[in-house]
Order: sequence, then C-alpha cells, then structure tokens
Amino acid sequence: MNLHEYQGKSILASYGVAIQRGLVADTPEEAVEAAKKINEETGSEWFVVKAQIHAGGRGKGGGVKLAKSYDDVNSISSDIIGMQLITPQTPPTGKKVNKVLVAEDVYYPGESEPSEIYMSVLLDRAKGRVTIMYSTEGGMDIEAVAEKTPHLIFKEEIDPAVGIQGFQCRKIAFNLGLSGKAFKEMTKFVANLYKAYIGCDASLFEINPVLKTSDDRIIAVDSKVTLDANALYRHPDYAEMRDLTEEDPTEVEAGAVGLNYVQLDGNVGCMVNGAGLAMATMDIIKLSGGDPANFLDVGGTADAKRVETAFRIILKDTKVKAILVNIFGGIVRCDRVAQGIVDAYNNIGDINVPIIVRLQGTNAEEAKKLIDESGLKVHSAVLLQEAADKVKEVLA
Ligand code: GDP
Ligand code: MN
Repeated sequence: MNLHEYQGKSILASYGVAIQRGLVADTPEEAVEAAKKINEETGSEWFVVKAQIHAGGRGKGGGVKLAKSYDDVNSISSDIIGMQLITPQTPPTGKKVNKVLVAEDVYYPGESEPSEIYMSVLLDRAKGRVTIMYSTEGGMDIEAVAEKTPHLIFKEEIDPAVGIQGFQCRKIAFNLGLSGKAFKEMTKFVANLYKAYIGCDASLFEINPVLKTSDDRIIAVDSKVTLDANALYRHPDYAEMRDLTEEDPTEVEAGAVGLNYVQLDGNVGCMVNGAGLAMATMDIIKLSGGDPANFLDVGGTADAKRVETAFRIILKDTKVKAILVNIFGGIVRCDRVAQGIVDAYNNIGDINVPIIVRLQGTNAEEAKKLIDESGLKVHSAVLLQEAADKVKEVLA
C-alpha cells in the first residue's frame, strides 16, 4: 500500500527519524493556517507547498513550490489544490491533487551549502536481506545517476538476525562524506530509519532527498513509503491511511467483493478461479493471438453473486470484445459459477459480447445442464486450447 508523503513522514517521525516539519491542508485557508503554526514551531518564514499525490517527480511537474510569504502560501495552494498534476511518474493525464503539505523551508543559507542525499531501504529478494541504498547525488535526477554513474550509488546489506550495527551506520555517514555534527546525525538517522522500516512492515522507503542543512542537520525532506499490505492487520492505524481516490476505481470495487482484479490493455476479458490458472489462461489467449483485457481471479469460494459482479466489472471495459470464463471446479462448484453466468445475463440485460465458457471439475455436468437449459448463447469448450481457439474465432 502506497502512502502520501505527509503520512510517510508521520510514521518516520514516530520512530525518531528527523523530518522537515509540515502540516497537511485541504484548502488555501487551511494552508495559511498551517504555515502560521509552522512559523510558531520552527521560526521559519519561508515555506514549501507540496502537492500530495501517489507519484514522484512532483518538483519537475510544478507540484512543489517555495512560498516567501503567507500570501504566497495562499496563491500557490490555490493553484496546486484541484490541479491535474502531470509528472514523469503519473499517467499522461496526470493525477488530481486534493491536498497539499505545507512545510518549513529547510534550504536556508548558512555556514555551508545544503546538500541533497539519496537514501532508500528495500528488501533485496535475491539476497534475502534488507538493503540500504544511498548516494551523495540525491535530488530530482537520481534516475540519471543510476543510469550514467551507478558507481555513485552505495549499498549496505543488513543481517536480519542482528539488525543494523553501529559500524554500518558510521560507514554510511563516512561514504556520504559527512563529518562532525552531520556525521553523528546521519548515524542516528540511518539507525532510526531501519527501525522504522522493520517496525511498520514496510516494503519500500525512498527518501529523496535526505537533506544536510547549512547548519549540519540531517532531515527527511521527501518520503515515499510503501507498506506491505499483507501485514496491515498488525497496524490498523496505518490501514486507515489508505487513500482510495489514488487507486483504480474498478480495482477497488473488485477488492470490496473479494475479487482479485487487475486491469490490462487487451480485448479479451478473463474470468478464472485461481491465480495460477488465471495466468495460464492469459498465456494461452496470447498464444492464440488475442490479448487479455484483465487478470481476474474469482477465488476459491466463488458464488453466483460474485460471478455476476465479476461480469459487471469486465463489461465496464469497452475494449472487451470477448469473455473467456475458465473455471476448474475443485472447491468452487461449477454449477454455482454457471448460475452466476445465467444470473448475470438475466440481470445485466443485453450482453452483446460473445462468451466462451469452459467449466471443468466438480459438478461440471450440472453446470452444463444449467447453461443449456437457460437458452443462453454461450460457446462452450472442454479443453483450454479449444476455448482459446473459440476466442480467436469470435474475434476474427
Ligand atoms: P519530488 O519531486 O516529488 O521528489 O518532491 P520532493 O519532495 O523531493 O521535492 C522536490 C524538490 O523540491 C527537492 O529536490 C528540492 O529541490 C525542492 N524542495 C523541497 N523542499 C524544499 C524546501 O524546503 N526549500 C526549497 N527551497 N526547496 C525545497
Ligand atoms: Mn523527492
């Protein structure tokens, strides 16, 4: 599950990771209020107004702006809230901004230049270890650094049995070229960041930039936090941070009734039970020259109601020119699925898309009878290849 920057920062702060202080706002008025509170807390008279969407590259897209007065905060937030923000990481049409984070300006001048560091924490699955990646070349062009000068990106693997060690934190601070107070702050920063990663069951932290300020503080200026959705039951407070407006509405609807649905670009809708069979079905559709419109696993306990919902969801996609239902009845009974198909036909009204059905396994006979007696015009198939061939036929 992806979080907004402000939510990620609140989790980091709860583990003692130093962050750029900020408050979230839904309206320009709230943004000005937020700026005033931040001024009381930090003394900062300049602020940065940051669009809160689930995508990076906001700075490049005009979603991060510096405000040098409360009037600036007001006008910048008016521009950003409600805008359709396009960044290198959003869909081409952009994402609508509903909230802004108003934060203290931390790039103030001082003894030394502020410098932007890159840091991420992730699980290296091949090594089976949490790994910290970091670079002195943080900021908005880290992708170019990874491509052109990969030797400037360092990695530190952490042994899960003992957790992060003091020498590792010091090594990171050293490789980042820090000394004195900044060195010490960085060792604390890294240790707490690792604690946070483990504690909140994250799958990814990307903090770009971590800033060394002109007075040698080390703070998280940005946060991209992804939590492991399978561990959310351990963190009900984090589960509440889910922002459904950032997710594909059809996928949300499917999830609510227990369907595993992922929208794709093709023209053949698939309804299958079991993730493995769903993938095999997509493969055979491809092999037969078609293109799957979705991945849909109706699950092991599919009943008529769920099958009907699945149909409605597939039919919403106007690119769908054929639907392939491929069910292997093990725990799920084929006659229940057949009943769902019949109900869907009767309840949804005119379905003009050809439907190819392959029902095999438990109660397949009863299922066939149900469909035959319903008078529905579905093409039935026994073998998977046969089903795929029929798909090809109806598309031709
Ligand atoms: P991203 O573009 O979505 O990754 O958003 P970031 O939170 O990383 O911000 C983008 C850029 O905005 C940073 O790399 C900084 O250059 C700039 N920025 C962020 N916070 C401040 C700030 O407090 N003051 C100033 N002057 N610039 C900031
Ligand atoms: Mn960033």
